[in-house]
Amino acid sequence: MPPHPLFFQGGNGSRLTDLDDNTYLDYVLGWGPVILGHGHPGLTEAVQNQLPHGATYGAGHVLEAEVAEMVIERIPGAERVLWSNTGSEATQVALRLARGATGRRRFIKFGGHYHGWSDAMLVGYRPGPTGDLARGSEGQPEAVLDDVTIVDWGDIEAVRRLLQGDEYAAVFCEPVLCNSGVLAPPENFLTELRRVCDATGTVLVFDEVITGFRMSRGGAAERYDVEPDLVVLAKAVAGGYPLAAVAGRAEFLELTTSGVVHAGTYNGNPVVLAAAKATLEALDEPSVYETFENHGRKLGEGFAQALTAHGVPGTINQVGPVVQCMIGVKEAATFTDFLAADQKFYDRLLVHMLRRGVFTLPGGRWYLSAAHSEHDVEQTVDVFEAALKATLADGATPA
Ligand code: PMP
Repeated sequence: MPPHPLFFQGGNGSRLTDLDDNTYLDYVLGWGPVILGHGHPGLTEAVQNQLPHGATYGAGHVLEAEVAEMVIERIPGAERVLWSNTGSEATQVALRLARGATGRRRFIKFGGHYHGWSDAMLVGYRPGPTGDLARGSEGQPEAVLDDVTIVDWGDIEAVRRLLQGDEYAAVFCEPVLCNSGVLAPPENFLTELRRVCDATGTVLVFDEVITGFRMSRGGAAERYDVEPDLVVLAKAVAGGYPLAAVAGRAEFLELTTSGVVHAGTYNGNPVVLAAAKATLEALDEPSVYETFENHGRKLGEGFAQALTAHGVPGTINQVGPVVQCMIGVKEAATFTDFLAADQKFYDRLLVHMLRRGVFTLPGGRWYLSAAHSEHDVEQTVDVFEAALKATLADGATPA
């Protein structure tokens, strides 16, 4: 991790300002949620208007229904919505619903997919101790770890084989593997997952915490035209305020009225729901998603050209407004390719970008907001190239 203990005093649109009044083009976006950019006027006004009425009531609020309708209208297959506060909680809700619906305990997840910080979900996220806090195992593909089985992303045969036994409640996935390389799903993979889950009565869960409302208006489910049973939403849904949700088929979500516990003191907080309503409305402005695609492509192509021009081996993956830079990797189609990227070189590059006013995530992922202009993107490509030159001038060589 590069040495950049930054403290910010505020943000405006695509930019953040630190305590020394330096400004940075922001591609971290609070690790994703700030999809409209900082201080969006409509979002700010909506929150301000809600604040005088109190934060939480212990009973329903009309905004719960209004925002649920908005989610249902956008997300393929969504008939009901349950609120949570964070993505980590919402993935647990999805798991519990799947277990309640099937009476089965085990679930499948894919190597490198992140579904929050709970012990049950962290397994298999990364090799070594980070991913295996709860179980102390290796986290290798296909290792059977108590209730969870880790499979390689794209290995439909492994899923098919495992689901034959009627033991698995659910298959979880990030439909675009944003947390480990921005890997698009292999062709037809999501459709095949849908098919095999249907055939075996297994609940298909799309964790759209990153992809929801970002990969398209209806998330990755819409982009790839596959309807999961449950969709986990967070991050972009409320533009930076703490809201998460599980949306999906009524037969699963209505289990909470017949014994499957769903709780959370702050669930459905009206202030964050006001933020969600304003965010989803703003994302309906004309050409938001077209601009995301264009800016994502420009950023990705610009980075790739800079790498080629300076003889630095690397790969850029891009799906919509999420871009991944991997140094030292020729092609990144799998989690293992992603793990092979040269992080040391990238950390140096990142420091040179920070010095030039671009704030981006360690690990190589970039998020674009609706506030990023074409000029911002062009400027960023220039900064990337200048930072690359500076990194090479330091004597760093990609592994
Ligand atoms: N799922 C995915 C795909 C995520 O990227 C994240 C967070 N990065 C989570 C779940 C957990 O969300 P939270 O940090 O809100 O708990």
